[in-house]
Amino acid sequence: MNQYVKNLNRIEFVITYGCTGRCKHCSEGDHNSAGQFIEAEAAGRVVRDIAGKYAVNSVMTFGGEPLLCPEAVYAVHQAAMEMKIPNRQIITNGFFSRDSEKIKRVAGELARCGVNDILVSADAFHQETIPLEPVKEFTMEVKRAGIRVQIQPAWLVSKEHENPYNHCTKEILEEFEVMGISQSEGNVIIPTGNARRYLSEYYDMSREYISPYEEDPRDIRAICVDPNGDVLGGNIYETGILEILERYDAGSFS
Ligand code: SF4
Repeated sequence: MNQYVKNLNRIEFVITYGCTGRCKHCSEGDHNSAGQFIEAEAAGRVVRDIAGKYAVNSVMTFGGEPLLCPEAVYAVHQAAMEMKIPNRQIITNGFFSRDSEKIKRVAGELARCGVNDILVSADAFHQETIPLEPVKEFTMEVKRAGIRVQIQPAWLVSKEHENPYNHCTKEILEEFEVMGISQSEGNVIIPTGNARRYLSEYYDMSREYISPYEEDPRDIRAICVDPNGDVLGGNIYETGILEILERYDAGSFS
């Protein structure tokens, strides 16, 4: 086995870079390649192949807005459930439709496909362009469907920092608390992508900010598959994922 990936335990999928939001803090910047979606069947195969060989304990789907392509999300989590991967998570902004029937149907399908943890991104930044009511509706539907759901806010500078954005975020979180929906620790915004463009006044731009999610190229624990199939220098539409993992050369990524 390739020593650089022997501790692989998490698979992530960017379902699409397309999004219903246009957030000021978005690390994806202009959402180039927004029209591309990951292929459901190929994504499910990646999960089955990796979980057959590695001790995977979590699978996560995000975006963009992953629920713009629910079939791919279902396929990933269905495969993860079949392979007995315990943590099956989605990060969503919660806004993919205003149609109550569709919102309810998607929530039910997510539960049926084994999703057991949903983080809903809601805060001052998301709610500048995303209406809160459909997000609340989706959140209540997944809760009713029996899925653990929490709000995951983005904090500017830090959770404790006093600024108008954090103040507005706290008000939004209170609205969810009234509904019985709690919050996760959330993320602290790193000034990259749109955040670098629009929020740099809050940061010391002479400093280097490192994402807490960055992987050590010599000890890959998590891989992330792009909508175009790219991962670790290979492409799942052209090469089997196990072969991509075997061929992975840390030297070309450091
Ligand atoms: S919802 Fe997420 S992906 Fe979409 S614009 Fe906002 S931060 Fe970016």
